[in-house]
Amino acid sequence: MSVLEKMTSADAIALEDKYGAHNYHPLPAVLSRGEGVFVWDVEGRRYYDFLSAYSAVNQGHCHPDIVGAMTEQAKTLTLTSRAFYNDMLGKFEKYVSETFHYDKFLPMNTGAEAVETALKICRRWAYEKKGISPNEAQIVVCENNFHGRTTTIISFSNDPVATKNFGPYTQGFIKVEYDNLEALEKAFKSNDKIAGFLVEPIQGEAGVYVPSEGYLASAKALCEKYNVLFIADEVQTGIARTGKLLATCGNCSCPDRHCSGEPEIKADIVILGKALSGGAYPVSGVMANDDIMDVIIPGSHGSTFGGNPVAAAVGMAALNVVKEERLAENAHVLGELFRSEMQKFIDNSTIVNAVRGKGLLNAILINDSEDSTTAWDICMAFKEKGLLAKPTHGNIIRFAPPLVMTEDQLMECVEIITSVLKTFEK
Ligand SMILES: *Cc1c(COP(=O)(O)O)cnc(C)c1O
Repeated sequence: MSVLEKMTSADAIALEDKYGAHNYHPLPAVLSRGEGVFVWDVEGRRYYDFLSAYSAVNQGHCHPDIVGAMTEQAKTLTLTSRAFYNDMLGKFEKYVSETFHYDKFLPMNTGAEAVETALKICRRWAYEKKGISPNEAQIVVCENNFHGRTTTIISFSNDPVATKNFGPYTQGFIKVEYDNLEALEKAFKSNDKIAGFLVEPIQGEAGVYVPSEGYLASAKALCEKYNVLFIADEVQTGIARTGKLLATCGNCSCPDRHCSGEPEIKADIVILGKALSGGAYPVSGVMANDDIMDVIIPGSHGSTFGGNPVAAAVGMAALNVVKEERLAENAHVLGELFRSEMQKFIDNSTIVNAVRGKGLLNAILINDSEDSTTAWDICMAFKEKGLLAKPTHGNIIRFAPPLVMTEDQLMECVEIITSVLKTFEK
């Protein structure tokens, strides 16, 4: 078969099945085009995208500003490596630093690489600033975390599917229960080798688990008390997804009035990825102030592609779209609407137990066991009605559409979702 030949969904699935490693279990939708909140399959069927590539496509598919910046830069200069300077990286670093109010930004490509970068910075800081003895630094993480797929990152995962037979694992991590301040303080108190606390502001992969109000601010206060770096993994929650520019939004410059109502948290290290590029290109990175970032010296860390001119152009365009189109505000407003509409349905439902989330990062809990196929079957039925969503942990369905959605579109999607769920009532 020629690569240019039109293929059917069945052809494409068969090819991936035969020639690709089986490291995913996709819903059988074969997509060939996207625009805004929509994607189309190879047969021309249109779907609302309710996953947004795990919140990478916050700005909507193929946003013209982002694609424009990318193609323009791709025609001019794509890669220099960091052996030389280029005329885009400094501008991007300035743009990110000023947007989020940190002194410095260290660019990488994928979320996992940015998490690795944060862990390395934290360990160096422990030895060079906090004075922990060599090789003894510990980093506290949360149970049911998801931070990526590298060998070190899976070393502190408690998902057996992600960790089984990939040992030996990296040492130096202590797991505590998420949303449990007592457990966190106990860990800090019992050990003077703690360098950092790595946390997701909302646990996305675990099933959109939102911690109690005030948890993050109190955890940050504990970090200050014990001289521990608070490291926020905002790869999924960042870039307006939860109704704020960052879920830990402190004194950031987002034009969003909703920041004021909640405690201000300024993480010591913030990890970004996914929507930092609007899904157009792999762009990630880590932000911190000088007293932390200055542990990184020439030769101590790097990436051939990290901070390349295309990534810089794409990253700036993607952040600019978030600001110009007030996507944080839209995510906040539509998120409230979505949860209230879903709650109305749940009040009279036996198939859905609850809805939870913040902004446009939401999930419903299906009333069936984790090993049932009900959530998968519901997602297959959503697909038939023109909406794509994916179960996580068996009986949870995540809903995370692009943030460029309109209220009318959201209400149409609520109608699709509730009409399908009705057919599954017991
Ligand atoms: C997706 C994700 C990552 C990993 O990002 P990749 O680009 O897939 O490596 C890390 N942390 C969180 C919270 C994520 O959601």
